[in-house]
Amino acid sequence: MEQPHLEEDRSSKFSPSKLGVYQNCPRRYQYRYVDKISRARKTPETVVGVAVHSAFEELYALVTGGKIPSLAEVHEVYEREFAQGWDATVVEKDARFSKEDWRKVGRDCVQLYYEGHHPFSQDRTVAIEKRVGFPITVDGREYRIEGFVDRLALAPDGAFEIVDYKTAKSLPNQQHADEDWQLALYELAVRREWPDTKEVRLKWHYVRHGKTLVSVRDDAARAKLLADAGALISRIKHDHEFPTNVTPLCDWCEYRDLCPVFAHPIKVAALPPAERPKDAGVKLVAEYAEVEGRRRKLKDELKAVEGEREKVEAALADWAEAEGVATVAGEGAQATVSIKDELHLPTKTGRPRGTPNSRPRSAGPRCGPRSRSSTGTR
Ligand code: SF4
Repeated sequence: MEQPHLEEDRSSKFSPSKLGVYQNCPRRYQYRYVDKISRARKTPETVVGVAVHSAFEELYALVTGGKIPSLAEVHEVYEREFAQGWDATVVEKDARFSKEDWRKVGRDCVQLYYEGHHPFSQDRTVAIEKRVGFPITVDGREYRIEGFVDRLALAPDGAFEIVDYKTAKSLPNQQHADEDWQLALYELAVRREWPDTKEVRLKWHYVRHGKTLVSVRDDAARAKLLADAGALISRIKHDHEFPTNVTPLCDWCEYRDLCPVFAHPIKVAALPPAERPKDAGVKLVAEYAEVEGRRRKLKDELKAVEGEREKVEAALADWAEAEGVATVAGEGAQATVSIKDELHLPTKTGRPRGTPNSRPRSAGPRCGPRSRSSTGTR
């Protein structure tokens, strides 16, 4: 007998991105964090992202040491990291763009940010790639939420700034920033580490666009965030099914070949064309499609027959009414026209509303007319 699928999450630590994976698709979460199936996959986007982050890390490491590197020096770091990161494991999904195109994307990001922020005196860097976290009690058990802040800075007005660099092609709107969990959870950690903190600004530099989004959360938003994070951890801990959630993000999922939604189509697509019709699932789908086709055809035919029947029924009723008879004789059968009382009430538009088979003769409200409502044969 098949055993029920009873997986269980044993995590004691959650990062915002880990929570985000569960929010987007519990099944993907299961593969990655419960079954721990490693599918680390490099894409051009991840190689560019890592190389740009490394360049900014070095940039601010030098700035905090009192030296402002030249753009060429920062580019040098980027180029080195990009060359190291781009290896045979990179999965290129879009043949329109070459490695050189991607290299340039990251190089331009570095330049745009460098030129927009030089001489980097807008704030004071407190930490780069800083691990932050805090404990959270859920259902009586203690967990930790942890992650890494790209850069933590102090602005001239004394506010902490939690800075994140994004190399994404798309530029999200302000609402997206105001609903973001990641930096907001880091803010909770920063406030615990520095309890006298007054203002914290969450800052995303979208370096492909040279655009910065800023979000500030109030006490109520922070309390809700903490409650939501706790509720999500509780859901994860109680989940034994980890259902799939099909969204456009499935295109980027590294577990498509395992996922019940995509596994069979992927397996069939990999078969030689001549082998595909022999697959048991393919055969059943073909059979189902044929039966379903016949069912739909019959349904259409039935609809057409019912339409004809209604027309004849109406003609019969008209004839019986005109003749003043309730039973119409045929050869081997006879039809009866039943008469029933109906109440017609005015609708909002003032027009009377009758039953589907009735044909009211008057335009105004009336009570108790006798009209034919159906016919039958016997
Ligand atoms: S392919 Fe989509 S539905 Fe399947 S596990 Fe991945 S994200 Fe979830």
